[in-house]
Amino acid sequence: MLKELVDLLQQREYKMVDLLEQLVKMESPSTRPDLTEKIGQFLSERFIEMTGGKVEFLESDQYSPHIRAEWGSGEGQVLIVTHMDTVWPEGTLDEMPFEIKEGKAYGPGTFDMKAGIVQALFAIQALDELEVKLDKKVVLMMTSDEELGSPTSKEYIIEEAKKSDSVFVLEPSQGEEGALKTARKGVGTFEVRIHGVPSHAGIDPEKGASAIEELAEQITYLSSLTDLEKGTTVNVGLIDGGSQKNVIAEDAHAVIDVRVQTQEEMDRVVPLIQNLKPHDSDIEISVTGGIYRPPLERTDDIERLFEKAKELAHEYLDIELIEEFTGGGSDANFTASIAPTLDGLGAVGAGAHALHEHAVVEQIPKRSALLALLLCEYGKADL
Ligand SMILES: [Zn+2]
Repeated sequence: MLKELVDLLQQREYKMVDLLEQLVKMESPSTRPDLTEKIGQFLSERFIEMTGGKVEFLESDQYSPHIRAEWGSGEGQVLIVTHMDTVWPEGTLDEMPFEIKEGKAYGPGTFDMKAGIVQALFAIQALDELEVKLDKKVVLMMTSDEELGSPTSKEYIIEEAKKSDSVFVLEPSQGEEGALKTARKGVGTFEVRIHGVPSHAGIDPEKGASAIEELAEQITYLSSLTDLEKGTTVNVGLIDGGSQKNVIAEDAHAVIDVRVQTQEEMDRVVPLIQNLKPHDSDIEISVTGGIYRPPLERTDDIERLFEKAKELAHEYLDIELIEEFTGGGSDANFTASIAPTLDGLGAVGAGAHALHEHAVVEQIPKRSALLALLLCEYGKADL
């Protein structure tokens, strides 16, 4: 039966590319709920038509509804996490049209992660078509705000992960070999606002307290928190401040990107950033923000999941799967501490968020088959 499943999906390459083309041509930047809603509607209809499953729209107060699609039945569930939004603004297609060149599908969102959505839909369709009976239901989440850090889908994803025995995340794989992602850094954003005392730089320099000078000192301190060996980076990426060149600056402001590899580092660095102390008593500092995606650490459960995926890929697909660590965050960061999670199961290709973004076409059916095999394994298929 597993062999049949793989063969069926291998024959669907043409259909998969066709659906991918339709999805890419429906541009869906996260910041345009009208567009993400459209693609969400389209995907809901495809899901019902292809799998006979059911769909629920989960309200988002800022963005378009997230989609919870369900197939099969059973007490437990296996969760698949995808997102419909991309980082590309509307109109990108004019410069970056959908096209197939040398076996690669180019276009905005092909790799991150519309090919992943295609793989998931076809995998579930194949299970349905071959009447594979699973002990558990399969829940497919398709969210609309992942590229913004999942502000409104996070809680829904966590809620579903709590009900799930395993979680498969279809973010793009890494490198030419299509490595799975078994560890990810945690990611946070902090904003530092400094309030000083303004004064004329020529007439009353002694009466002022410069917010810019204070910020400069804080930047040096914040940068010193970076510890590359431990995988911690504190990057002051944006600054602004002051009003005129001859005024001692009243205000200054910085935005900081923080990444940590372990919970331990998160616990070390976060309080240091939150409790910045001014060097001058006339200055006030306030810090807002936090870690919005905790680190995904490679647990024994994740290792077991990876080993199983590797075994299935080797046996049925003749693929030698490898695993890698990445500094980028995904929704897997939320689910990994709740249920065993495997990420990077999506497309093989390159150029996420870059102009050469593409997915390798012949890998789309293979990856779809790998997901179908994992669903059989972890959904406890009665074969
Ligand atoms: Zn993504």
